[in-house]
Amino acid sequence: ATPVALLVGTGRGAQLGILIRGPETLESTRAVDTIVLDKTGTVTSGRMALTGVVVETASNLAESREARSIHAESSDAGAILRTSEDAAAARAELLRLAGAVEDASEHPVAQAIARDATAEVGELPGVESFQNHPGTGVSGVVDGHAVLVGREELLAEWSLRPDEALDAALAAERTAGRTAVLVAWDGEVRGILSVADRVKPTSREAVAQLRALGLDPVLLTGDHEAVARRIADEVGIDRVIAEVLPHEKVEVVKGLQAEGRVVAMVGDGVNDAAALAQADLGLAMGTGADAAIEASDVTLVRGDLRSAADAIRLSRRTFGTIR
Ligand code: ADP
Ligand code: MG
Repeated sequence: ATPVALLVGTGRGAQLGILIRGPETLESTRAVDTIVLDKTGTVTSGRMALTGVVVETASNLAESREARSIHAESSDAGAILRTSEDAAAARAELLRLAGAVEDASEHPVAQAIARDATAEVGELPGVESFQNHPGTGVSGVVDGHAVLVGREELLAEWSLRPDEALDAALAAERTAGRTAVLVAWDGEVRGILSVADRVKPTSREAVAQLRALGLDPVLLTGDHEAVARRIADEVGIDRVIAEVLPHEKVEVVKGLQAEGRVVAMVGDGVNDAAALAQADLGLAMGTGADAAIEASDVTLVRGDLRSAADAIRLSRRTFGTIR
């Protein structure tokens, strides 16, 4: 294409809310046949809310529910206990300790837990020896208790396992599309917290547009397979690659490229940056982390997945390769 055509292309891009790092980067979109979509913050809003608290007390299971409405169809884990003062106190303690550790993390799951825990139990205590475990959770010491919040893999590092009732509750939450994590302290698994995210209202249409452009969509996430499957079904994606650790996302992109695919990737998180850089075309949500934006060729200013289709359409027009 001529420089003039490129200029037109990028000017139109700005109108559409698409910022292009170098016009030459768009040339690579011609051959793109696969588009990898990060789940949290890309396909979903990433604005999570705490929707479920399951407390395991020494003798029974206490499930208490948030008043929040999205939890209407929640699991009935164990279906034991009910509102005793004990259960209320156990719930408050769970929220206080888990919230305190999560308060030190920037992860969307963590922020939702810390914020909504604060709303319920008030100011959270401080945390010592905080550690972030990318893709699995967090740990730290709160009021002298060694607290873990995260996936089964994290707890397994401390040789902790949920019992059958908690396992069932985790599965039920995940099948419903909610992200569920375990809470443990002082060597015992104490309960579950689940958070819900929402598919962005435009994501389903965006996926249809990407397919119409001949692209094969793939949902990529560190979250549980069942959650990913549910979200994928909601937006019309067949292929899901789930339970991928942050540092493995780049390997997934490399793997697709090794299959001979030309890969675009859309992401928003710090944990997406390496994969965005590896992709033949990296597109970052403008609402996302600076690291993701810096690693990408294109910024979708509005944080709307439909802009990814706009960007590809625009470049194909710019390069005269409308298919
Ligand atoms: P994604 O790929 O969806 O952006 P991540 O790779 O960041 O997700 O995290 C994968 C999973 O690890 C989350 O869905 C959550 O279950 C768990 N996790 C990550 N960070 C935390 C945290 N701070 N607290 C609890 N769980 C976490
Ligand atoms: Mg994300």
